[in-house]
Amino acid sequence: MKQLYIGGRWVDGAATTTTRSPSDRSDIVDEYASAGAAEAALAIEAAHAAAPGWGLSGVQQRADALDAIGNEILARKTELGTLLAREEGKTLPEAIGEAARAGTIFKFFAQEALRVRGDKLASVRPGVEVDISREPVGVIGIIAPWNFPIAIPAWKIAPALAYGNSVVFKPADLVPGCAWALADIIARAGLPPGVFNLVMGPGRVVGEAMLNDARVNAISFTGSTATGERVLMACARRRAKVQLEMGGKNPLVVLADADLDVAVNAAIQGSFYSTGQRCTASSRLIVDEQIYAKFIDTMASRMAQLKIGNALHAGVDIGPVVDGSQLEQDLSYIEIAKQEGARLVSGGDRLALETEGYFLRPALFADCAPGMRHVREEIFGPVASVLPAKGYEHALALANDTEFGLTAGICTTSLKHATHFKRNARAGMVMVNLPTAGVDYHVPFGGTKGSSYGAREQGSYAAEFFTTVKTSYTCA
Ligand code: NAD
Repeated sequence: MKQLYIGGRWVDGAATTTTRSPSDRSDIVDEYASAGAAEAALAIEAAHAAAPGWGLSGVQQRADALDAIGNEILARKTELGTLLAREEGKTLPEAIGEAARAGTIFKFFAQEALRVRGDKLASVRPGVEVDISREPVGVIGIIAPWNFPIAIPAWKIAPALAYGNSVVFKPADLVPGCAWALADIIARAGLPPGVFNLVMGPGRVVGEAMLNDARVNAISFTGSTATGERVLMACARRRAKVQLEMGGKNPLVVLADADLDVAVNAAIQGSFYSTGQRCTASSRLIVDEQIYAKFIDTMASRMAQLKIGNALHAGVDIGPVVDGSQLEQDLSYIEIAKQEGARLVSGGDRLALETEGYFLRPALFADCAPGMRHVREEIFGPVASVLPAKGYEHALALANDTEFGLTAGICTTSLKHATHFKRNARAGMVMVNLPTAGVDYHVPFGGTKGSSYGAREQGSYAAEFFTTVKTSYTCA
């Protein structure tokens, strides 16, 4: 059984859980310890005790540890990617790519640890010096989702450690294996005991314990909007620093002058890769009415070529949905879309393959209207809704007509429209002639409106959340 990691030791939990592959329910991935409130408290105590020492550690020590973690992840990316594909259902090439990305992120933050910047300003008082420094925040509680079970924890854990904080990491319940494998690598990097702690366990128990404990100085959360709101309220009550990355309902606008191949590739990848289970998925395709029929026909013929199957098998484009309840949610939104009068062009049915897995043929709905529920709410599955637009201004208005604001894309050959869209799309990340999903590892990640709250993740902008600013006055 794979254990929890608390205070530099592998320990049992309050219970055990077993996970099975969503591609093949007869494939038992492993057995894991599951923490209760007592183990969560022990992990928080260990992180609290370790934080001051790690905060004062030299940046070279931090950089070396992060670099070693990054190197080991990269060296073992195929093994980690295979585990990810088996446990979460992402196709093997995507899963290996995610593992490699996590390794690169650790190596990036190894360098960032050496670049913690301060500032010096002239004082208004003669003889006084003003220094501005970035200090560690203390204990960071990391609460992660299942859909990027290695990369998202990496882009939270790496900056937390780089800037001198200790960590309590709570992964999503569906992916303890990926979390454990990552923790196993971190545990062997020679960090002082308590600097990094892993507590697998239920959100309502372990997550809530982290939210409500005054020793946890900040919470970095990625997950659904509903949970994010709970996290925000709990942190507000005790004035803890908080960063939330939540849902999306991302538009991909296709103008009449777009290169159709570029647009259809962007739509297929953005809507259906990772089985549509990405916060950055293109779930709303807003297509100029002049090319609407041709776009839908081309999409449908491309979708017919997509190979759906076991995530571990070669040549598979679309793996399974992550579990039974997510599959039920996807199927219920497909029913809602039909009842709302949207036209099902392709897919949308459960697929029985040779193994018992949660396979769903990607669904494309046409003739969708902005008020429809399936167009407004995040489904988090391989379901795309096409809305017709009367020219650019109408398309932009439709794109912005959402409570979310994570990514927004446009396919066009017009520099004028691309530039206008970059300025006026109300989203944290804008893509031109690219899928809305697929981001670099070293630049800011985050959204606006209901998608995000607080400072950006990734790249050097991560320092904003994982450090706190101190202003010192000295009279010599
Ligand atoms: P979720 O909200 O169900 O769970 C996220 C995490 O919160 C899990 O670790 C869970 O155990 C924990 N949790 C649940 N209840 C809790 C509570 N009461 N207190 C504290 N923690 C609690 O989300 P999910 O299903 O794992 O992930 C899918 C969602 O994540 C989608 O909405 C997706 O859009 C979003 N997501 C967003 C981004 C982004 O960067 N914006 C990236 C990936 C996923």
